[in-house]
Amino acid sequence: MISCDKAATICNKVQYNEASFLEKMKLRLHLLYCKTCKGFSKKNTELSKLCEKANLHSLTEQEKIALKKQLKDNPKPPSPTDISQPTIE
Ligand SMILES: [Zn+2]
Repeated sequence: MISCDKAATICNKVQYNEASFLEKMKLRLHLLYCKTCKGFSKKNTELSKLCEKANLHSLTEQEKIALKKQLKDNPKPPSPTDISQPTIE
């Protein structure tokens, strides 16, 4: 089992084709039971597709930089420990 943080790291690696086969398997397994990371992975894939699509239409350098920044700024999913308990007033 891997943590959400680790899953997010592998997810990012997958986008740049840097993840190993074992890492991809671990990520897939994690996505089976973790909805938070599943949503994050989906969003990441969409951004990646957008980037590929953009490359096909040969963007200007400025637009490419903007897209790269968008991918970099993609937030990590919140870890379960970050979710605070509802306070009883
Ligand atoms: Zn997770």
